[in-house]
Amino acid sequence: MSYSLGIDLGTTNSVACVWRRGGLETIPMDGRATMPSAISIRPDGSVLVGQAAKKRAELAPQESVTSSKRYMGDDRTLWQIGERTYTPVDVGAIVLKELKDKAEIYLGQTVTEAVITVPAYFNNNQKRDTKLAGERAGLKVLQLLPEPTAAAISYGLDQGKDQTILVYDLGGGTFDVSVLSVKGNRFQAIAVDGDFHLGGDDFDLLLVEYLLKSLKKQTSFNLENILDIFWGRDKSPGQGTPSEILVAKQRLKEAAEKAKIELSESQRTIVTIPEILGSYIDEEITIDTYNRLILPLVDRTIIKTKSVLQAAKITEEDIDRVILVGGSSRNRLVREKIAETIKEPYISARVDEVVAQGAAIVAGSLSSPEEDITPIEFVNVTPFNLGLRASTEKDLDIFQVLIPKNSRVPTEVTQEFTTLRTNQKSVDISVFQGEEKTCSRNTFIGGFRLDGIPAAPAGQPKIAVQFRMDNSDLLLVTASCSNLRTQQILDVNLVSREEELRTSQVEADIIFLIDTSGSMSDELKGVKKSCLKFADKVISSGVDCQLGLVDFDLPFLGNKYNWEIFQPMNPKNFPRAIAKLEIGRLGGCGCHIGAMNTIPVIEGFIGAFPQNNRLKIGILISDEVGNEADAINRSIHLLKSAQVSLYVVGVAKSCHEKIAKETGGKFWNIHASRGKVDFASLLDTIAVEITNLALR
Ligand code: AMP
Repeated sequence: MSYSLGIDLGTTNSVACVWRRGGLETIPMDGRATMPSAISIRPDGSVLVGQAAKKRAELAPQESVTSSKRYMGDDRTLWQIGERTYTPVDVGAIVLKELKDKAEIYLGQTVTEAVITVPAYFNNNQKRDTKLAGERAGLKVLQLLPEPTAAAISYGLDQGKDQTILVYDLGGGTFDVSVLSVKGNRFQAIAVDGDFHLGGDDFDLLLVEYLLKSLKKQTSFNLENILDIFWGRDKSPGQGTPSEILVAKQRLKEAAEKAKIELSESQRTIVTIPEILGSYIDEEITIDTYNRLILPLVDRTIIKTKSVLQAAKITEEDIDRVILVGGSSRNRLVREKIAETIKEPYISARVDEVVAQGAAIVAGSLSSPEEDITPIEFVNVTPFNLGLRASTEKDLDIFQVLIPKNSRVPTEVTQEFTTLRTNQKSVDISVFQGEEKTCSRNTFIGGFRLDGIPAAPAGQPKIAVQFRMDNSDLLLVTASCSNLRTQQILDVNLVSREEELRTSQVEADIIFLIDTSGSMSDELKGVKKSCLKFADKVISSGVDCQLGLVDFDLPFLGNKYNWEIFQPMNPKNFPRAIAKLEIGRLGGCGCHIGAMNTIPVIEGFIGAFPQNNRLKIGILISDEVGNEADAINRSIHLLKSAQVSLYVVGVAKSCHEKIAKETGGKFWNIHASRGKVDFASLLDTIAVEITNLALR
């Protein structure tokens, strides 16, 4: 007989429980119920986990990782410690392995299976990586169980009556709120919502900010920079930051957390740090001051709570119980606000253990080594809309939802799509999740290409795409074409996001070539604004890019162009270059790409691209065109030899179209709606095209 664990893999602390001899037992972790989800690597390469790691993190923060769950599913976060690089999956696996080892010692036998809980609001990548971490720790993950469902199971089994439960779960790094209905042993999630970036750690940060401002004498450190590091705006965790600052960070964070916990009981607390950043802190914080600081965050959780009631189509009166889960729900303001706006909440004496207990009940019922546990039946709902990018001629970025948010799982949906172009041989299936109408604003989950579509007029092939979600909410996407015998499957369980993103990220230098002659005067304002939006969009879609600008114009007198080149730069600095664009700043009349006298402009434009292997993309915006065959061919030759693709918003049926096509770019017509050209949406489309290169 072997036992299966219920594991709450928390941001700050983790807990393991087991169902044994007809009851729940929490595995002791160095004499406590919880174990810090921290690791620390000694110079000799040995790994500390839990309490010892948390302690060492104080002395050697740059060799330690805490709160790694916040980064689960995000493969851009890496910790370089000594010779090794650790991903959030690695850290999760080390923590889980420690829980497994401790459980084996406690139970006196090998443990190979577990139910691991995840925030209900975790997206597909986060869940997949949690499962991966479990597997790397040597555990077969029987089930990923949403934390609120686990809490309701642990609570509901005691009560034995049908009820509607609201679970408010405020942990260290995440906030989840769910409505569940409990009927006997059947737990059904009705609606879930949450905020993945809100938790007790944020309360700590507010206190840290407050404490930093209270430094008792001048410090030579730049507090703005230090705050950037605290708020994670400095993107080099554990690297490149002076160790003095890292130690100060750890000390401040600990002092803030201690003060916060004291303020859950007392009216005031005193924070004393004798030596910090060349100064010292000796500050009294009252509950009123603290509540004022955190009120906006607590209010955010209440707004989410109300919206989940709406999604569940119920009111406060329909709720039988509000259960508080997560360490931060011990906060007094949280409890007061819930009592005021929803209902007097219930908080378990063992609030840290309820989630792991629920997981242990499910683990016991699934593997059932003992007869005394009734099978638990539970129905989850999807926390996000899930869908794919469905492009039309006009809009390439439509998010077509196949599985709407709060759908019951397991579920299966099939929808038919078709081709956009005649004889189109392939379609890209790009899967996203999120709340926004456009894909680029949602989270990309994965993608694949369905190849080999037989030649047919646009709109004729029937392409069936199926989304299937299992009970752990992991998604399987299948696409098949009616005349195609093969089918392509995206099994997001199997695709490692770490590798996937690394290979799919677009790296590009993008240079705008903008005509600022008099005829563009109507458009220029729109162009400037839209270029800035474009920059935002490309970056937020994960493209690693530099942006440049060539402003060109022909003076009234003479045949020689003037131009100014702003070399590709960090997109943050791009607005300054764009601000300089003015009609006639460099001259005044027509800009004829395709005429011989623009060849030097093309040469200068190409010369502005740095020599590297990144994609080179030019975006020409002009309403004038030259018509000299030699110049057109020469321009195409120059661009192709330099491997620059030109995307053009220009004049239809002209060399603009030809140059775009020949260089692998695309063309849009500036005259389509003369006077009110919607640059925003044209550049939006180009941004999506560029983002899409990632998925090819
Ligand atoms: P969890 O992720 O559920 O382990 O919750 C951890 C969070 O709860 C951390 O931010 C802790 O600082 C916070 N926490 C623990 N105990 C208390 C307390 N008594 N009052 C306020 N926050 C607490």
